[in-house]
Amino acid sequence: MRIQSFIPLSIRRCLGNSLHSLAAHKKKKKLLKKLQGSAVECNICHWQGSRFTDDPWHAGTVCPNCGSQVRHRMLVALLDGKSMLPHFDEEHLLCGKKILHFAPERQLRDRIQKAAEIYVSTDYDRGDVDLKLDMSEMPSVLDEDFDVVIACDVLEHVPDDRAAMRELHRILKSKGLAIITAPQKDSPSQTDEDPSITSPEERTKHFGQKDHLRIFGDDLKARLEEARFSVSVIDASAFSQNAIERFVLMPPTISSHPLATNHRRFYFAKK
Ligand SMILES: [Zn+2]
Repeated sequence: MRIQSFIPLSIRRCLGNSLHSLAAHKKKKKLLKKLQGSAVECNICHWQGSRFTDDPWHAGTVCPNCGSQVRHRMLVALLDGKSMLPHFDEEHLLCGKKILHFAPERQLRDRIQKAAEIYVSTDYDRGDVDLKLDMSEMPSVLDEDFDVVIACDVLEHVPDDRAAMRELHRILKSKGLAIITAPQKDSPSQTDEDPSITSPEERTKHFGQKDHLRIFGDDLKARLEEARFSVSVIDASAFSQNAIERFVLMPPTISSHPLATNHRRFYFAKK
């Protein structure tokens, strides 16, 4: 009989988890040492190094310390007032507002929560949120309840994205703002979607990820306008070259993968 059999399963699991996180901690420490330098900086955790790490699509875009990606750092650069646009900063966008944050990213959650007057997190199936909501049908949320809704990379997962946009419009107060991102190919004019594609393999092949139902095109703006929003689109061109390179607000090397999102766009959809 193996000696392990005498140790209760719960303790074995706990030991296993501890060993796993110890190994991950050692691996991260080694990686951070290897990437010592000051060429790039994460504007979220303030790590500085020679380069960011790679994701499956792009080289040098992920913070090795906090895991931030281009879209997280671009929003924080806006909040920090680093763009050339007036009124797109934390004070104007978030301070004193009642904010609903879909699929709250750990890199952004604390920052948004601290700025908000009232902060509500939500997700379709995660447990670590205040409310469980399906964005396309939110009967438990009153009309005109929120000043701001933030939904980064959510709409590509929602079966009826047009219904979701209409719901976002309904729950926002007059002049309220939905801040939205979605994965997008570089230059397709039309959203590519096909409800008959349902297997994880086919979805990955067509839309870039096993749980993506579409890959948006330039018509994402028009779809938001159909839901009666007035839409401003902000991308890396709103920032100085120095900020783009320092905080890596676009991939240092453009991916040639046909489904890669090289140029991140933020949609500011105003009611
Ligand atoms: Zn970071």
